[in-house]
Amino acid sequence: MSIPGNLSKITSSLPASVKLIVVTKTHPVEMIKEAYSAGHRMFGENKVQELVQKEKLLPKDIQWHLIGHLQSNKVKEVAPFVNLIHSIDSMKLLKEVDKQGEKCKRVIDCLLQIYIASEESKFGLDFQEAYALLQSEEFKALYNVRIVGLMGMATNTDDSIQVRKEFKSLKVFFEKIKKEILPSPNFQPTILSMGMSSDYQMAVEEGSTMIRVGSAIFGNRSYLEG
Ligand SMILES: *Cc1c(COP(=O)(O)O)cnc(C)c1O
Repeated sequence: MSIPGNLSKITSSLPASVKLIVVTKTHPVEMIKEAYSAGHRMFGENKVQELVQKEKLLPKDIQWHLIGHLQSNKVKEVAPFVNLIHSIDSMKLLKEVDKQGEKCKRVIDCLLQIYIASEESKFGLDFQEAYALLQSEEFKALYNVRIVGLMGMATNTDDSIQVRKEFKSLKVFFEKIKKEILPSPNFQPTILSMGMSSDYQMAVEEGSTMIRVGSAIFGNRSYLEG
């Protein structure tokens, strides 16, 4: 099927409350333009360098999401324009985003990436670390970041019982922090980013409000993922 065809198939199946981030990593600008022409405006990349290059070449009304691991020394490259950083996995990184946000006179929206998979290679905080971060005085002193929710990636497995269990655990934790931690200017949790091409339907069933989908729209990526 075509890119616009795949897009409309997915969006028409989603509840109105769920946003689709079109993941464009490894795909050329021409393919992104097809999704843009079909009316899509929210795109995600997992690498800073690729994100920065594509941002320069594409229309300025695109909302760019950084979904992959972010190193502190690269924050300044995305701080001027990034719409949402899904991958905050340490206080050190969050403080750097705050610092660069201040330099750009922006408040940068971020999600805490939570480790829910039973694989070793994925980044993220565990539930306790995330809870402690949100309650810390260090976090309360930051004015140029806003935590707007959580992101998680389920284990890459055919075991749907396992995947569902992981999504459920993240949803439970999301509800817990919304209930137990008072909202403040820098803590406004509304987004639960979970679900990719292989598991987004299940993620939506389990309460996702934002899915990140690449290959179901563009086809398989032609490189070996690390
Ligand atoms: C690549 C990627 C996705 C999308 O993966 P697909 O399987 O192509 O849908 C989602 N989230 C993150 C963090 C990614 O790196």
